[in-house]
Amino acid sequence: MAVVCSAAELDYPVTVSGNYWILGCGSQSATVQHLLQKINRYVYEAVESIDGAGPVGTAISRKFFGGVDPNILRPLLERTATGPNITLTYQNGQESYHPTIVCANSFMPEIEKFWLHCQESNSKRQASWAIGTQFVVICSRTFSLKMLPEPSDCFKRLRNGRFHGGQSLARTQLSVLFHELVHLYLNQSSLKPEVYRLSDIVDLSPADSVKNPANYVFYLASKGNYIPRRHLITQIIKRL
Ligand SMILES: [Zn+2]
Repeated sequence: MAVVCSAAELDYPVTVSGNYWILGCGSQSATVQHLLQKINRYVYEAVESIDGAGPVGTAISRKFFGGVDPNILRPLLERTATGPNITLTYQNGQESYHPTIVCANSFMPEIEKFWLHCQESNSKRQASWAIGTQFVVICSRTFSLKMLPEPSDCFKRLRNGRFHGGQSLARTQLSVLFHELVHLYLNQSSLKPEVYRLSDIVDLSPADSVKNPANYVFYLASKGNYIPRRHLITQIIKRL
């Protein structure tokens, strides 16, 4: 893992992962690189399923985004995968910056606010987008989460159409980072207040669901088309 250039605006060495920059992560830089690569892979699996299903979407896209044509999801999903530059507007004009993942640390005074926020004794904060910047800051506690979602984390669909379990899909390193990348590329148009619980996000209107990062998190953790076993069995039985 080579450090190939420095973040001019902060003057710290960075690790490069595609167009993303990784800053202040030390030995966790490789983990962040790995997560970005996984997000890229998962996004392209989701996009493939969008292509395969056409405007009606997959069972999973309908669950998390209502009747929205999943092609509408595509540009945002692809931006999180490829990490195009973030353009910031200043009084004197515009500047374009690499999207940058920062690990909260005590040696960068520029991010002291986030470091302190992560350190607060009752804080459960995992990560946050520094609003209006190109920075996503990860708290160290995130690295103690499981790295990737597993099928055993998935929700079960109950007979009444509600879900059981599944919340742990949003509690992985991949999900935490991806959640903030959705904020970064939604810019300031995220749903306010946000909705986090699986049981609540499926009740959002389609227009709200495409602005709520957690909807994308559960969708991506399902790679766009993962159908829980019980649901699959129900479908097969219906077809017999
Ligand atoms: Zn959020």
